[in-house]
Amino acid sequence: MTRAVTLLAAVAALALGGCDDEPADGAADVGGVMDAGGEGEGEGEGEGEGEGEGEGEGEGEGEGEGEGEGEGEGEGEGEGEGEGEGEGEGEGEGEGEGEGEGESVGRDGLFGSDVETFTVEVDYAVGAAPETRREGLLNNRSPWTLFETNALALFGDDPPMLIVPRELDEMEALPADAAPLDDYRGREILDLAEVYRDTPSRPAERSVYVIWLNGYYEDDSGRRDTVLGVSLGDSGVIAMFKPVLERVSNTPIAEQTTLVHEFGHAAGLVNNGLEQVEDHHDSEHGAHCSNEDCVMFWLVESAAGLGDFLGLLGGGDDPVLFGPECLDDARAAE
Ligand SMILES: [Zn+2]
Ligand SMILES: [Zn+2]
Repeated sequence: MTRAVTLLAAVAALALGGCDDEPADGAADVGGVMDAGGEGEGEGEGEGEGEGEGEGEGEGEGEGEGEGEGEGEGEGEGEGEGEGEGEGEGEGEGEGEGEGEGESVGRDGLFGSDVETFTVEVDYAVGAAPETRREGLLNNRSPWTLFETNALALFGDDPPMLIVPRELDEMEALPADAAPLDDYRGREILDLAEVYRDTPSRPAERSVYVIWLNGYYEDDSGRRDTVLGVSLGDSGVIAMFKPVLERVSNTPIAEQTTLVHEFGHAAGLVNNGLEQVEDHHDSEHGAHCSNEDCVMFWLVESAAGLGDFLGLLGGGDDPVLFGPECLDDARAAE
């Protein structure tokens, strides 16, 4: 990523981080940074009891999110070395999504030939309206063109009809009190989707739900003020974090690039639901692509990488941001 260097100087201070969805256990980034939801669906409260004996060191992996109460008893003796074992049981009840509204489906089959429509439903919180400005790149066409172009590229030869908003009046402003938080955890984002998502994903009528929030992503390590967006597991729910996106110089294009990246995750890239035609999974960095010119490259979540992408776009039309490996995976999928 040598190209990144010059841009890095300009944007380094922004330290934009990423976006994303990674398997909760995969991330080299702190504790599954990007993947708020992990793979799981369903919500639940669980109670768990665990007993553990531990000594010395422990490693923690944080996975998933959920609400749970747990009691644990542990006995430990502190000596330099140790093993920890723990057993826990949890019970949870989960509610499926789309209850009472017929079947709602995840990403499986998204690229199949029986998918007729693909809808992007967009809601936004007060103060977090998505960019629709046309100045700048893409020959002054709507920045949403970038998303459409890239979604079509993934769908390949026989794409469904895309229903993608371009103007604010095709999106929905959330009520003033709907999303007042400064920080959002995955669970809270899914809760918002449960209330405000109007377009469930059905077998022949697929959808994603994208919510622009006037706040930051939060995980167990606290506020992640460099995270641009997240894609929550297999839910088709994507959140965009406006205060972070606004720190990028070309916010309209940064938003769409982030949305393209998150849609890639929602669709199962890389090796996270979509089978690989050829191995291009950068497993050290979660569900990302080893091709550094691909929008699914992990550095696209960083200032340098995103700056690089914006630089690549230039004034051209319709750039496809996915590399051939990612495109192949989607096009081979059924
Ligand atoms: Zn990512
Ligand atoms: Zn790729």
